[in-house]
Amino acid sequence: MLKDIERFWSKVDKRGEDECWPWAGAKSGAGYGSIRQSARRGKYKHLMATHVALHLDGRKRPSKAHVAMHSCDNPPCVNPKHLSWGTNLDNSLDMVSKDRDRGGPKRIVRRQKEAKAMAAAAEEMDAAATNLGPTMKRRLKRPSA
Ligand SMILES: [Zn+2]
Repeated sequence: MLKDIERFWSKVDKRGEDECWPWAGAKSGAGYGSIRQSARRGKYKHLMATHVALHLDGRKRPSKAHVAMHSCDNPPCVNPKHLSWGTNLDNSLDMVSKDRDRGGPKRIVRRQKEAKAMAAAAEEMDAAATNLGPTMKRRLKRPSA
């Protein structure tokens, strides 16, 4: 296990105490660090680097329902200062509140897309209205915002 610990820290790009410590080893699809831990009979299992960081910090996983949460929202980060245990529900609530606080980049993109689609639809309507008689055009005219 000591070897595993050494191997773990050898894959961490340790920076300043409060900075993010990016995981330099293997990563899962979502960008979270993962490390192979040697187990009995030549078998090994994959552990989340964030979970190992919390363990090594003396914080054991409260239950299997708990996941490692980042206060920095940086998946590869394994600085124990940025990590805490939470349930999936905490995690999604956390994301929702952060999204709300920041205005949420995803939401902005979605709004931009919506606005573009609306503008395109309005143009189409205008073009269609041009082809229609003046009476219809007046009816189809958008109310000015
Ligand atoms: Zn971090």
